[in-house]
Amino acid sequence: MARRRARKGRRVAADLAPVLDRFQRGFDAAARLSADPVEFPRRYPDPGDAEVAGLVAASLAYGRADVFKEKVAAVLAACAPSPAAFALQLARNPDARPFAEFRYRFNTGEDVAALLAAAGWMRERHGSIGGRMAALLGEPAEGEGRMRTALTRLASEFREAPPALAILAGRGGRGLRHLCPDPGAGGAAKRWNLYLRWMVRGPDGVDLGIWKGVSPALLVVPLDTHVARVARRLGLTRRDDLSWRTAEEVTAALRLVDPDDPVRFDFALCHLGMSGGCPPRRSPELCAECLLRGVCEAGSPV
Ligand code: SF4
Repeated sequence: MARRRARKGRRVAADLAPVLDRFQRGFDAAARLSADPVEFPRRYPDPGDAEVAGLVAASLAYGRADVFKEKVAAVLAACAPSPAAFALQLARNPDARPFAEFRYRFNTGEDVAALLAAAGWMRERHGSIGGRMAALLGEPAEGEGRMRTALTRLASEFREAPPALAILAGRGGRGLRHLCPDPGAGGAAKRWNLYLRWMVRGPDGVDLGIWKGVSPALLVVPLDTHVARVARRLGLTRRDDLSWRTAEEVTAALRLVDPDDPVRFDFALCHLGMSGGCPPRRSPELCAECLLRGVCEAGSPV
């Protein structure tokens, strides 16, 4: 049974690999950068600033991109010129007043201040968030898989960081839990996995590649509705929920194509969906032009 599954996997990978490679090569990533929150960490030449700006951008990357990007821009403007220095300052002197005006759906200025203070606290203790993540990935996992266990522990450390607790005292930690979700709870933890993709992969013109201590081979695809839809159509999963299990399943299929860098197709696949190139309601016209058509279960003529 296992051998049959492995044979099938190799066959799928052999079909998918050239098509995904061609698709990725033909994808104009530079043209989509301004529509993506990765543009925020990319603005900072200093890796510490990029790491903190990326955390803010990824944590707030929910809802409509044009709306949350304005919110991210406002937070980073308040942290100018150095998000890393600002986070350190908040860690030492917990204070939510710089974000008194901030509101975005499930989050308030206190949540954002707590997130930044936790980031500053972690960087002061461990040198960088990336350094902490690399250390957590080196610890024994508890049956949930290495990445999920490490991310669960990282999320918990953010939520329990003393300056974050000081800022949120008497308010409850619900908003910070939304910014730092627990992958152990079963959700896909898209925003954590997106943050990791930005920090770990590359540099390749999209992702920054500044966390050298974490292998891209360990990454899990940041599963959102766009990636999930395209992945289902490509037969990378049959599951239709946005769970960690589905994210793992999609990643496992992509790992057959590229074991060292399974999430390298994520930006192109996500933007194919986001840009309307692969809409929820299938379009024969778009399918006829799509470079994935040869391996897409939904791409056959209607
Ligand atoms: S062939 Fe059509 S359904 Fe399949 S990925 Fe391309 S646009 Fe989407």
